[in-house]
Amino acid sequence: MRALTTPASHAGLGVLQHICQTRGMPFDREIADLARAIDGSRRAVVFTGAGISTESGIPDFRSPGGIWTRMAPIDFSDFLASEEARRETWRRRFAMEEAFREARPNRGHRAVAELVSRGKVGVVITQNIDGLHQASGIADDQVIELHGNTTYAHCLDCKARYELAPLRISFERDETAPVCDECGGFVKTATISFGQAMPEEPMRRAEIETLAADLFIVAGSSLVVYPAAAFPELAKQNGASLVIINREATGLDPIADLVLNRALGETLGAVVGVD
Ligand code: NAD
Ligand code: ZN
Repeated sequence: MRALTTPASHAGLGVLQHICQTRGMPFDREIADLARAIDGSRRAVVFTGAGISTESGIPDFRSPGGIWTRMAPIDFSDFLASEEARRETWRRRFAMEEAFREARPNRGHRAVAELVSRGKVGVVITQNIDGLHQASGIADDQVIELHGNTTYAHCLDCKARYELAPLRISFERDETAPVCDECGGFVKTATISFGQAMPEEPMRRAEIETLAADLFIVAGSSLVVYPAAAFPELAKQNGASLVIINREATGLDPIADLVLNRALGETLGAVVGVD
């Protein structure tokens, strides 16, 4: 597809103009550009990060006030090596429990789900661990979780699944980090920590889907976490158009065809026509 920001590409907006222009509101060129990119694509991928869930009340990592302005991440090797690191990991997780449990999909999630249901978007590749894409109605097999899922836990050795509520009750009794009833292995949320191996199957599927896409839309990621952030680069190298919607600038802005520095819910909601 042609670069999306050329003046010529703004001609003939017809239907889009009708959708986007409400009385008293200036015609929104960025919204029209994104709508046109989606319209013209055969197979799009949406790639999300923590930014799509901030409007659901889950803080991201790197915005001002984000989680890492308050505490450093715990590396996987520390989790394995130290009972205190495991305890601290669980303390932090349970401190976030209300935010995760009460979070509901927001307008951005709903717009993405609508694109999936229209068949425009085949899969959502997400760095998020909150399960909100699935909660918005996207089938499990159309959400590729690169960093796992924090809404349940599993044994690192035998992979037995554990629900968080009973783990919390016993943790709060004596602050002992949970171990597996089956094999004695360490129990951890089903997420990927820094220093932990990426999950093979999601990585493989994400690569296949990225290479099959002619439009790759980044929604709410600072694009600093690798290897996840390599997917938008791969899409672009492979000839797809790259769109980045993020409140702040990212390192991949210079290679993107379209960059929208604005809030996700209202942006995607307006583009897709979802409230
Ligand atoms: P990040 O915190 O590094 O970046 C989020 C980006 O989103 C920021 O650049 C910010 O400007 C932007 N943003 C925030 N709210 C926005 C909004 N409403 N509209 C538009 N842009 C908005 O997050 P990341 O790139 O996903 O990387 C962090 C890692 O943290 C990921 O690996 C992810 O697993 C994990 N994480 C997940 C969650 C979650 O599941 N909701 C929350 C925090 C962190
Ligand atoms: Zn086990």
